[in-house]
Amino acid sequence: MPLEYQHLISNNKRWAALKKSAEPDYFKRLSLAQQPHFLYIGCSDSRMPLDTFTSTEPGELFVHRNIANQVSITDINFLSVLDYAVNVLKVKHIIVCGHYNCGGVAAAYKGQATGLVGNWISPIRDLAKENAKELDSIEDEHLRLNRLSELNVIRQVENLYKTHVVQRALQKCHSDFQIHAWVLDLATGHILELPLPEGLDHRNEKI
Ligand SMILES: [Zn+2]
Repeated sequence: MPLEYQHLISNNKRWAALKKSAEPDYFKRLSLAQQPHFLYIGCSDSRMPLDTFTSTEPGELFVHRNIANQVSITDINFLSVLDYAVNVLKVKHIIVCGHYNCGGVAAAYKGQATGLVGNWISPIRDLAKENAKELDSIEDEHLRLNRLSELNVIRQVENLYKTHVVQRALQKCHSDFQIHAWVLDLATGHILELPLPEGLDHRNEKI
């Protein structure tokens, strides 16, 4: 049964009361400042609240979400989030987290999206064409789309590396600063860490 609007308000009252009873100063502390160590770039899909899957609390994840977790280097909204997260909040980790069963990835692959959404996810269609040989070798369509979700995350990490903000952060504090490619398997609730392509994995590299 779909959640009724009024339940959002009553749930909030109950949740706030529980938090306050567990820690009387919780909201006072929360309202003072944020010091997140993580920037989460994820899909807008309602099943993708990473704080739930990682048991993180308000104040721990700085978040940017859009359809199919795109890192668009012409998106001023995204670039502002990235700049603020890295240069002001000084996050230590950037996590690009896609997911299996992603409607945006499927629509791009099947050419089903039109209008603004179609335009937004068109880079995934190009990515599928670039990787047609590998994708065509996967018979099961579900598995093929899941692989495209993985390739999409890796492509977005590659796009991150192209940004001035990330390039500067890597030069300034490479040992403290890490970028991660994740895919969430909604069928199990588990996060899978994807290996980064050679040349991008700076974690063991001296720059
Ligand atoms: Zn999605």
